[in-house]
Amino acid sequence: MTKDHHGDTAPPYDIKLSVKALESLLVEKGLVDPEAVDALIELFQNDIGPSNGKRVVARAWVDGGFKRWLLDDPNAAIASMRYVGSQGEQLRVLENTADVHNLVVCTLCSCYPWPLLGLPPVWYKSPPYRAQAVADPRGVMRQFGTEIGEEKEVRVWDSTSEMRYLVLPQRPPDTEGWREEELQNLVTRNSMIGVEDAQRPAKTGTS
Ligand code: FE
Repeated sequence: MTKDHHGDTAPPYDIKLSVKALESLLVEKGLVDPEAVDALIELFQNDIGPSNGKRVVARAWVDGGFKRWLLDDPNAAIASMRYVGSQGEQLRVLENTADVHNLVVCTLCSCYPWPLLGLPPVWYKSPPYRAQAVADPRGVMRQFGTEIGEEKEVRVWDSTSEMRYLVLPQRPPDTEGWREEELQNLVTRNSMIGVEDAQRPAKTGTS
């Protein structure tokens, strides 16, 4: 067992088994609908889980002082927003720029900045993503519909239990004057892992 990857986001096997048994029992008794359970997990992976990260990114977009603090001392900057992890790991924030695009992976398991992003998506934990993110990061991003121009350098960061990463995506164009709350809606979980850019404002949207 490697020293770097214990204390990961994956629960111990016996807990997983107990949860599975409990879910089966509830479904069997007709107390829960398995589709409702899946929908709840989806909600945690896509919406509730990453909401802290979305707020951190939107604040960095509107407040240059906060952004510098976030890049220099992320644990303190994030603690100022009262988001604190309980595993004691360090966090590093990686800023996407016109020259650099950052992509996060955990090659050995599923280390993930869960206090900011919630549960890791299934694909993040999958062996193909873990292998391909390092070997062919542009190819991986293309599968998410993301084309990174050749003029940009792509940097891949391998998470461990001691060091987690959060990507600070570039602020989308045509969002001058937007309020922090509006900007949060353009920040996606995937953009904070680095497989996508932040969303662009809808051309006809009401924002
Ligand atoms: Fe890991």
